[in-house]
Amino acid sequence: MTNPNNMEIIIDEELEKCKKRCEALNMPRYNSDKITDYDCKECGNNQYIFVPKKVNGFYREVAVPCKCQNIRNTLKKLAKSGLKNIIQKYTFENYITAEKWQTNIKNKAVDFTSQQNKWFYIGGQSGCGKTHLCTSICGKFLSDGKDVVYMLWLSDVKELKSTVNDYENHKNLIKKYRETEVLYIDDFF
Ligand SMILES: [Zn+2]
Repeated sequence: MTNPNNMEIIIDEELEKCKKRCEALNMPRYNSDKITDYDCKECGNNQYIFVPKKVNGFYREVAVPCKCQNIRNTLKKLAKSGLKNIIQKYTFENYITAEKWQTNIKNKAVDFTSQQNKWFYIGGQSGCGKTHLCTSICGKFLSDGKDVVYMLWLSDVKELKSTVNDYENHKNLIKKYRETEVLYIDDFF
C-alpha cells in the first residue's frame, strides 16, 4: 500500500514536471517582427497557452486558446469591413451631445447595438453626425465579434450592376453583402 503522503508528493512532482513541459511549449515560436496583425505578450503569438490539467488521473499539457485569437479575428474583420481608417475616430464616447436631439439619436444608436435582425436608418443634412454614429455602431458590432461590411451605395451598386451579365463574377461580388451579419449602407439617398 502506498502512503497517502507519498502519493501527494508523487502528484506534486508530476504537476511540476507538467508545468515544465508547458513552459517549454509556451516559449514564443514566432518572431514578433513577422507578426503584422497583433503582438501578444501573453502567448508570445503562439495563440494557445498550455496549462497542466488532470486527465484520467494524470497531468497533461492542455492547449487553451489565448484571448488574442478574438482580437486577431476582430482586426481581420475590421480590415475586411472597409472601415479600418475611421473606426477609432468615430466612437459613441466622442460623439458630442450638446443638443437634446443629439442625445436622442445617440441613445437610439446605442440601443440598436443590442438588437438583432433590425435596421437602423439615419438621414439628415451633412454634418449632423450620421457617419459618426453609424461607424460607432459598426465599431461596437466588430468588437462583439460580428462580421461587418461597409457598402458605399452609389459606387458599389454601380459595380454590382456592371457584372450583372457575368453570373459567376456577379455572384461572388454580391456574396459578401448577402452573407455578412451587419451591412452598413452609406449614401443610400
Ligand atoms: Zn495571445
